[in-house]
Amino acid sequence: MRSLRPFSSAGALAVLASGAIAAMLLVGAVPAQAATASADFDRTKHSLDDPASSWVIANKLRPLQPTNWVPDDLVRLKVPQVYDAYLRKPAAKAVTRMFADFQKKTGLGMQSQSAYRSYSSQVSTYNSWVDTLGQEGADLTSARPGYSEHQTGLAIDISAVGGSCSLRSCFADTKQGKWLAKHAWEYGFVLRYPQGKTKITGYEFEPWHYRFVGTGLARDLHETGVKTLEKYFGLPNATDYE
Ligand SMILES: [Zn+2]
Repeated sequence: MRSLRPFSSAGALAVLASGAIAAMLLVGAVPAQAATASADFDRTKHSLDDPASSWVIANKLRPLQPTNWVPDDLVRLKVPQVYDAYLRKPAAKAVTRMFADFQKKTGLGMQSQSAYRSYSSQVSTYNSWVDTLGQEGADLTSARPGYSEHQTGLAIDISAVGGSCSLRSCFADTKQGKWLAKHAWEYGFVLRYPQGKTKITGYEFEPWHYRFVGTGLARDLHETGVKTLEKYFGLPNATDYE
């Protein structure tokens, strides 16, 4: 352990002052986003544009390219499901493990409400929301076809088996919702549309919608406390379509 000695000369003070100036210059040179991301995690490791990348970012400013993209490794989920549920293989494996661990620890169940949705199924999903809420309301809760994370095969809406808060904000207060908020990152998932981030993500709080990004990125998001993929990667706010 080193002890601090009191400054004994003007020379020491000058060294200290120049060090402080150098430190200030350094801080100024670091991009703003680096302040919230860990230094040792490579944020350029995977593409954010390639729809086959586990880091692909789909939002209102970033449609999938091509818009009718279909993943080639979709597998049927081996978990309880409300509608036939498929995800890409690594995401499917992670969901299975996550649901099993939750059940082991709590004796309760989780199920897939909705997982992969093709371009054409998103057409009907989005249109039915427009019928119910009008276009403005629909845009806060459902993506237009070609812009949906569900089309990546990496996103899943989770609900409680026997629960009554499916696809509603009260899901956040269920045992399932609370456990996911705390533990999903350990399995490589992030809560994609957090509370209070509508201006950034373009969507209202969706405590049921989880996105698989892999354990490395999920851990870094957890450790740095950055709540949205947009902020983490320094992308513009995706409040609305252009
Ligand atoms: Zn969803």
